[in-house]
Amino acid sequence: MAVALDNNGRHQVVIIGGGFGGLYTAKHLAKANVNVTLIDKRNFHLFQPLLYQVATGTLSPADISSPLRAVFSKSKNTQVLLGEVNDIDPKAQQVIMGDKVIPYDTLIVATGANHSYFGKDNWKDLAPGLKTVEDAIEMRRRIFSAFEAAEKETDLEKRRALLTFVIVGGGPTGVELAGAIAELAYKTLKEDFRNIDTSEAKILLLQGADRVLPHISPDLSEVAAASLQKLGVIIQTNTRVTNIENNIVTFKQGDEVTAIASKTILWAAGVQGSPMAKVLAERTGVECDRSGRVIVEPDLTIKGYRNIFVVGDLGNFSHQDGKPLPGVAPVAKQQGEYVARLIQKRLQGQTLPAFHYNHVGSLAMIGQNLAIVDLGFLKLTGFLAWVFWLIVHIYFLIEFDTKLLVVFQWAWNYITRNRRSRLITGREAYVEAKTNNITQVAN
Ligand SMILES: Cc1cc2nc3c(=O)[nH]c(=O)nc-3n(C[C@H](O)[C@H](O)[C@H](O)COP(=O)(O)OP(=O)(O)OC[C@H]3O[C@@H](n4cnc5c(N)ncnc54)[C@H](O)[C@@H]3O)c2cc1C
Repeated sequence: MAVALDNNGRHQVVIIGGGFGGLYTAKHLAKANVNVTLIDKRNFHLFQPLLYQVATGTLSPADISSPLRAVFSKSKNTQVLLGEVNDIDPKAQQVIMGDKVIPYDTLIVATGANHSYFGKDNWKDLAPGLKTVEDAIEMRRRIFSAFEAAEKETDLEKRRALLTFVIVGGGPTGVELAGAIAELAYKTLKEDFRNIDTSEAKILLLQGADRVLPHISPDLSEVAAASLQKLGVIIQTNTRVTNIENNIVTFKQGDEVTAIASKTILWAAGVQGSPMAKVLAERTGVECDRSGRVIVEPDLTIKGYRNIFVVGDLGNFSHQDGKPLPGVAPVAKQQGEYVARLIQKRLQGQTLPAFHYNHVGSLAMIGQNLAIVDLGFLKLTGFLAWVFWLIVHIYFLIEFDTKLLVVFQWAWNYITRNRRSRLITGREAYVEAKTNNITQVAN
């Protein structure tokens, strides 16, 4: 039976999603004369830009997660609910979460995006993507298990496949993963094995576009490619993956088709709007783009519904230069802040001009002492960029939580190449270990 939650008469704002978009909306409403209900299917906010460091053993999941309840413990007007929203009823102004119905006056949908396998959903298990903590742990398991299995493998061909890592997608996630795996293989793990030389590992980065990091200026993209190549990463641009099957990845560059045996194929290409886009489309008739993102109006509402906003990766905002804004944290953050201000203005009978995104720059980490910073007016590479990247990430990580100690520990581990979080965990790891008579390492 449906149960409506209490409503004490104040304007009810319901936010679905505690990622960057939802979190910043709620934070900027913390002192407003409204009730805020923030719903998320996870009980923590996840700092996704550092997921690749969990996947490659530098950080632990808790280091990049902030419990939502702790973030809002002092915001007395904010209630946090754990649960997955499966429907909305825009006429009755209700959000439906299992058997709970939550009424709203204003609704903000900020449920983000998922991976897209361009219609090849059967590749999902063969080439996992990186979006959740579980994804990062699974990637970590596959990466470190591959080295472990190679250490025991006597067949040279099988060993080569175990030591071949293929990363599909040359955007920031693909570049960061490739750089981190190269550092692992060629530096961190070099002394740790007896039967294999980890520096024989092959790390292949396949990019569909004609350069890596196509969102930054061509000169910096060239520096990024050269730095990756110096680390040992093989980059193939203008390359499309055509098949993944039985640990073989097949790809096409021009007319040339190549098939490579690899036990570790990682997916860092393509995104699509989360399933809430479909729910919104069905219930309100709003249009979605080809990537399943909701087309939003200049004020981030959806057509015909002045009280429903979409912020962050789920939305397609194309009112600035005709192109959709990128799916990055600063867009979600600024949109969240804008919607919070607009709600308060409206309650005073006023409004705001259309949303405008202020581009703050692009950063990408390639490896130790190697990063790329493009602030438009300032471009940095190498060590300076790396220090800048560290400072920016330390700042963001400590914004919600008193994680100073963790953050400085991380910076120290990073500087000293200490990868203490390289645990092989999860159910799969347990089954694998039992099958191979290896004693399971405790979590
Ligand atoms: C691996 C990776 C690396 C990245 N690196 C960078 C980077 O370096 N710089 C950068 O700027 N950006 C980066 N991004 C992008 C950035 O993280 C996103 O743009 C940003 O997180 C978008 O925020 P959001 O609020 O729209 O969605 P998200 O942060 O994805 O949050 C969505 C939230 O909604 C919740 N949710 C989803 N569906 C439901 C439901 N039905 N009911 C309840 N809750 C639900 C989810 O649990 C989640 O908490 C990266 C992303 C990834 C995946």
